[in-house]
Amino acid sequence: MYQINEKIRDLTPYEPISGNCRIRLDANESFLSLPESMKADISRKIMNIDLNRYPNALAAELCEAFAGYYGIDSKNVAAGNGSDELISVIFNGFLMKGDKYASLTKDFSMYDFYGSISEAVNIKIAKNEDFSIDVDTVIRECNREDVKLLVFSNPCNPTSLGLDRSKIRKILREVKCLVVLDEAYMEFWNQSMLGEINDFDNLLILKTCSKAFGMAGIRVGFAVGNKNLIGAIKAVKSPYNVNSISQCIAAQVLRCRKECREAVETILSAKEKLGKDLLSLEEKYPDKIKILPSNTNFFAMRTEHAKGIFSFLMDRGIVIRFFGDFLRITAGSPAENAELIKELKEYFESIG
Ligand SMILES: *Cc1c(COP(=O)(O)O)cnc(C)c1O
Repeated sequence: MYQINEKIRDLTPYEPISGNCRIRLDANESFLSLPESMKADISRKIMNIDLNRYPNALAAELCEAFAGYYGIDSKNVAAGNGSDELISVIFNGFLMKGDKYASLTKDFSMYDFYGSISEAVNIKIAKNEDFSIDVDTVIRECNREDVKLLVFSNPCNPTSLGLDRSKIRKILREVKCLVVLDEAYMEFWNQSMLGEINDFDNLLILKTCSKAFGMAGIRVGFAVGNKNLIGAIKAVKSPYNVNSISQCIAAQVLRCRKECREAVETILSAKEKLGKDLLSLEEKYPDKIKILPSNTNFFAMRTEHAKGIFSFLMDRGIVIRFFGDFLRITAGSPAENAELIKELKEYFESIG
């Protein structure tokens, strides 16, 4: 009888909470849809795609548009079917079976998922109790365990905390392995290492169109690094990994630099207001909730009432992300955030 191997036998499909939630603040997506004029341009362009032909194998125009947005060279960029695909490509390509890689806890859960599929050995490095990262511990553990790859998000999903550039540089200089630095949320902060990719031979940065750029639906992400590393990614990825329609849409959007920057500003201002409202709630209930300082478009809230708050909001059609001892709340539109705050206040009044 055929038996699926033990590596994947017990896996279950990734299924986010679905159903009819009025307000979705669980996936860190942008609450903005693309401007109508941009959508019209995109529709016209899509009409002209030869769908009978394979897409551009290296997503050349898309990588140009991305590089143009950040003022870098497109030779330093590879595109993927979401940065998720690139995480998988990097793990499978840069690690040999049995190689060690280091990830931090808590951090983005997909790293360890792809790590286990690639049959690499995970070295877990614990963060401090307050979720901050002790850089010296990270460096010491990576070197002591002789890991081949270190991966972490900065700023971090789910904690929303960030490490500044000087600390990132210290890690890059002092470890001996490849460092995969996931800057999925760096549009919302100012400590990107994109300008320094050629200063380090071991730095790969991941970027995504799914968060600040409001294109989670088309699955586009990027890896950025020196030509040597990017050449290896291009060689090991599957040839037509980003479909023609996604290439077309993302390139068109990234060429509209002004609109993209405005969208980020709009998200940031909604986030700031939400942050203020959450902090006033914290002031009122200091022993019940603690909001972490956020460098992203979401807030991490430590609370012993995580389960209760999560269910209370769910019953009222608002979905946030539950992580056991803390909650993660994406900044939605101003109206959605106001709803959320109103319901949170009701929750705390209800428990007295
Ligand atoms: C959302 C997210 C991604 C996923 O990006 P996709 O491009 O949608 O696959 C990667 N890393 C982190 C830390 C994220 O939060």
